[in-house]
Amino acid sequence: MKFQSLRNHFLRRFLPPHIILLISILTTMFATYYVYTTVEENDRLRFENEIQETEENIDKRLDAYVAILRGTAGLLAASEFVTKDEFHLFVNRLRLNENYPGIQGLGFAPRVIPGEWEPHLAMLQEANPSFQIHPNGARYEYYPIVYLEPENKRNQAALGFDMFSEETRRAAMIQARDTAKRASSGKVTLIQEIGPEKQAGFLIYMPVYHGGVIPETVEERRDQILGFVYAPFRTDDLLKGIFGDINQNLVNYKIYDGTEVSSDNILHESISDQVAHPRFAQTTQMDVAGRIWTIVFSTKSIFEDGSNWNFVPYTLILGSVLSFLFYYISRSQAQAFAQAEQASERLSHSQERLKQSEYRYRIVVENTNDLIALLDNTGKFTYVNPSYKKILGYSPKVLEGKRYEEIIHPADLIMARENFEKVLKGKVAKVTLRLRNTKGKFLTVEGAGLSIYDKRNQVKAVVTTAQDITEREELEKRKDEFISIASHELKTPVTSLKAFTQVARGLIEKNEIKKASNFLSKMDEQINKLTRLINELLNLSRIQQGKLELNLEDFEVDGLVKDTAESMQAIIKTHKIILEGKSRKKIKGDKDRVGQILINLITNAAKYSPDGEKIIVRTTSLGNDVQISVQDFGIGLSKEHLGKIFERFYQVSDVSSGTYPGLGIGLYICAEIARRHKGKLWVKSKKGEGSTFSLKLPALKS
Ligand code: ADP
Repeated sequence: MKFQSLRNHFLRRFLPPHIILLISILTTMFATYYVYTTVEENDRLRFENEIQETEENIDKRLDAYVAILRGTAGLLAASEFVTKDEFHLFVNRLRLNENYPGIQGLGFAPRVIPGEWEPHLAMLQEANPSFQIHPNGARYEYYPIVYLEPENKRNQAALGFDMFSEETRRAAMIQARDTAKRASSGKVTLIQEIGPEKQAGFLIYMPVYHGGVIPETVEERRDQILGFVYAPFRTDDLLKGIFGDINQNLVNYKIYDGTEVSSDNILHESISDQVAHPRFAQTTQMDVAGRIWTIVFSTKSIFEDGSNWNFVPYTLILGSVLSFLFYYISRSQAQAFAQAEQASERLSHSQERLKQSEYRYRIVVENTNDLIALLDNTGKFTYVNPSYKKILGYSPKVLEGKRYEEIIHPADLIMARENFEKVLKGKVAKVTLRLRNTKGKFLTVEGAGLSIYDKRNQVKAVVTTAQDITEREELEKRKDEFISIASHELKTPVTSLKAFTQVARGLIEKNEIKKASNFLSKMDEQINKLTRLINELLNLSRIQQGKLELNLEDFEVDGLVKDTAESMQAIIKTHKIILEGKSRKKIKGDKDRVGQILINLITNAAKYSPDGEKIIVRTTSLGNDVQISVQDFGIGLSKEHLGKIFERFYQVSDVSSGTYPGLGIGLYICAEIARRHKGKLWVKSKKGEGSTFSLKLPALKS
């Protein structure tokens, strides 16, 4: 039982909310993971996009520079000699500063082989007396910067510089010359860096060959090289020009010249926002005008602003909160459900109990011998129990809706009304009154009434209970009568005895012995009468106290009947006692007491048939029983008395039947003796025609 209820508690109250909790936590974890991977994937895409865009921007810009260089190279190749002014005009038209920010300049460095180029040199020096090829020193060939636009202080400083004399530049120039393609230099410090803030720089060279045609072989290219159109770049300025305000960028990048990431190679660093642990970092390499740049990208903190990363903790928190909310709701629901269930269980228990108690009450109310009724406060019956039908003959249908006064004896009405009022006022009333049955006869009942109240303290109903005490009253009355009769019956023989004694004494004194003896036998008769009366009284009291003792013996019925009839015949002179039939059976019983029954019946038969002449005593055997009937032809009994004559003190006091002496207890004692022998005593009679009293006793098996 305990286990069962624990199991129920677990299944109904504990399990569902916890399953919900588990499922929602798992869902939250899954959702969080899903959001996490989606956000991560999105961010990675954004990052890669950013990288691609950055690279594309650099590429596009440098392509544009290369195009300018190519155009300028075209110009220089077309004519054998371009003057400074022509070059200036050409570059001016390009509007470098406006259209190509980041470019430091556009210049031309022709190949100068000592001995071949002097006229040009002289021309240049004429225009610019300070023009000088530097650094000094004798070399096989020189590539001095002869034109460099726009003309500003920085560029001015570079004029005359033999770029071929410097290793890094030379490498790029050789590459450009030999491949006949633009070539970018490694990291250099530009000659233009005359200020204190020096930037990393690089240059892009475009070879120009004599005659404007690109020679086939490397040898021919080396031979026919006219010079280089080139552009110097300060990397920081260049990239600033490409990307504008770097604070807007989502990524930081560091650009290294070549394939190695080392501080020696660093070209540019766009660190505007140093993040200790960037979300993403990636290293890529790109071809910048024939040279490899290595770029290390990493995300900045503003990258996170565009990220939906917040969703991850939000999802987790919201999911957890919802999980616990669901858990809480489902738990309180389970609790509420369990409570409701308990309440309804309690209710159904109490309903069951109520039903049972109602059932018990109904059983009691419907099976009692008491009259139980409910009345409304106007005195109308609303319910009567089955006793009303049994005792008074009224079915509920007849009485319900009627007023109680209708069945009350007119003489008891006022008293009844007074008591009903008393009950309505909350008192308990006890009354004895008479109720009329359906046949018009009045029965005496002893009743009580009390009010029951509703919640508003108004009388809801009046309950009355009553016991039929008619019989008790009659018995009481009979008992009273019996006492007076018994005293009378006892007194009569005693009075006679007294008189006879005096007469006898007088006769003896006068010596009239014969006469006196006569009186003595009359006295004997009175004494017998007294003895009989006293015996009856003794038997009655023994029966009452349950002390009637039986001396059991086996005896022959026929013998007993014959003996008793004969001895009775000796006393009864008025009637002839006729014996009929034989049982031929023995019974086990108290012979004297069974004899007493016969004496009583025969005495009564004679007593109550004053005009009769015979009494028939009939003995028969009926199966295992013996039946003895005593029939007289006397006054008989009317129907209403038939059942009652076996009761204590019952005497028929019928005017027509005259009065007969007796105590009214003889038949009661006889019936008791018969009962004690497991037998039966009953009567069949018709008024005026006589009666037949029959005694049936179980016989012994022969
Ligand atoms: P009692 O002493 O009055 O005879 P019983 O108990 O013997 O008392 O009888 C009870 C009543 O039964 C009598 O009062 C009488 O009215 C009626 N009764 C008894 N025997 C007969 C009978 N044989 N015929 C008519 N009435 C009888």
